[in-house]
Amino acid sequence: MAVPKRKVSKSRRDKRRSSVWKLGAPTLVECPQCHALKAPHKACPECGYVNANLSVKEGKIAVKAAAEKKEEATVAEETSAE
Ligand SMILES: [Zn+2]
Repeated sequence: MAVPKRKVSKSRRDKRRSSVWKLGAPTLVECPQCHALKAPHKACPECGYVNANLSVKEGKIAVKAAAEKKEEATVAEETSAE
């Protein structure tokens, strides 16, 4: 097993711990639905909003407008076939 060649001095140890290991503030974005601050690319903890077709309520994923999208897709296929 690799072993350090010499003891790290108190000065060197404390310098290392002083500034380099500071945690940055978390990045937050505004929820487009309720305007609360939330983590990017995550469901909103306030309202559960994910995107226009998805939301999370009480731990369950709710899919919205999926049927409408499918209908649009079939209509598009029909029009392109003609
Ligand atoms: Zn929200």
